[in-house]
Amino acid sequence: MNTSDNNSSSLPSWIDPHNPGPWGIFVQQIDRVTPYLGSLSRLVDTLKRPKRTLIVDVPVELDNGTIAHFEGYRVQHSLALGPGKGGVRFHPDVCLSEVMALSGWMSIKSAAVNLPFGGAKGGVKIDVRQHSLKEIERVTRRYTSEIGLIIGPDKDIPAPDVNTNPQIMAWMMDTYSMNIGSTATGVVTGKPIALGGSLGRAEATGRGVFVTATEAAKDCNINIAGAKVAVQGFGNVGGTAARLFHEAGAQVVAVYDHTGVIYREQGLDIPALTQHVKTTGGVAGFSAADSMNPDEFWALPVEFLIPAALEGQITERNAGTVRAKIVIEGANGPTTPQADDIMRDNGVFIVPDVIANAGGVTVSYFEWVQDFSSFFWSEEEINQRLEVIMRQAYRATSEVARQHDISLRTAAFVVACTRMLQAHELRGLYP
Ligand code: NAD
Repeated sequence: MNTSDNNSSSLPSWIDPHNPGPWGIFVQQIDRVTPYLGSLSRLVDTLKRPKRTLIVDVPVELDNGTIAHFEGYRVQHSLALGPGKGGVRFHPDVCLSEVMALSGWMSIKSAAVNLPFGGAKGGVKIDVRQHSLKEIERVTRRYTSEIGLIIGPDKDIPAPDVNTNPQIMAWMMDTYSMNIGSTATGVVTGKPIALGGSLGRAEATGRGVFVTATEAAKDCNINIAGAKVAVQGFGNVGGTAARLFHEAGAQVVAVYDHTGVIYREQGLDIPALTQHVKTTGGVAGFSAADSMNPDEFWALPVEFLIPAALEGQITERNAGTVRAKIVIEGANGPTTPQADDIMRDNGVFIVPDVIANAGGVTVSYFEWVQDFSSFFWSEEEINQRLEVIMRQAYRATSEVARQHDISLRTAAFVVACTRMLQAHELRGLYP
């Protein structure tokens, strides 16, 4: 791989410009915001190269006695503002380009919200459905040992991502602690509460979505009470956001999950729907609602449309039909760049993922701080501090968007890149 190309606007030579892949897209995003970085733009090349990339072999004995090898990665995109922060993904499609891009987006998210973290990400190329819990534990422990060279509470702090969870974080924490000979709870976040996890972490992302929505509502002169809301995803993020909107007097008129779309013009009974999803596994069949097809869902005339399920949901195909006043991106990457342009041209106000769903990494930051001091805060304190950080992040981004007449998404990148490059400038070039 050759990333030493001196031409700042070109992609690394190993990336096909016609099919740039995740890392190529990240580099293009940095190129796009460079004109807004003023004199700091001379340092921008540093953001187009991850600081550190580690590829590890993870050999594991399977339950049948054979040995399997898995490829693992940990990429630290930037450590300018503090230790690396970012999840670990277990998925068969994990590849270097994806982990590099995800680490870059973590740098942007942490810096956009002004957390004292850099960006990192990890992954293991594995199909968890093909393996027993014991095998997953062995993969986790060996992977943790292999990346143990570069992680640590003051170096780089992993967290859960796709197919990883608090139990896996507990195994990572234990393995790292065994290797260094003392318990280091702060090496990962998203741990079980009993092992130094934080109260409020489970709801943090959905709560952050709601808080940013209330700020966007002020900018668009919309009252939350009485507003109509449509939510895709009724899991951790979408379910929490729907409940908070409901409690604030909004009418959540439609919910779309993997089992279907349900609709009720006067607003759904969210507590009853939560119970229904708990017992049946999905929203389909909820008696107090009609079913609806997905195309109708995206075109609903609502105040808030909240994609909080998967990436790539609002595309060129359906973006033109969106009639929502505000789109709040609870999911990561739910809107394609083309769809983003279409909705913006149609006057839809979009709160981008790097701001809207940053509540999770913010409470991860609180978990890390609590672990350092071994002093734990109440859920109320956590929610209050989360709200302050989310509101400040939204306001700072909105101010930059207004100054340059750019979208909130571009503004979030400008805010984040400016913070990272200011840190680079102040630290200087070693040696
Ligand atoms: P989750 O697994 O708790 O819930 C996912 C929801 O999406 C479920 O309701 C599921 O039914 C729905 N869904 C799945 N496939 C679907 C499909 N094909 N069509 C419609 N709905 C579908 O996940 P989550 O933690 O709520 O995460 C949702 C999104 O938010 C993801 O993009 C994730 O990366 C992002 N995110 C999560 C967090 C967090 O702290 N949990 C933080 C930042 C970003």
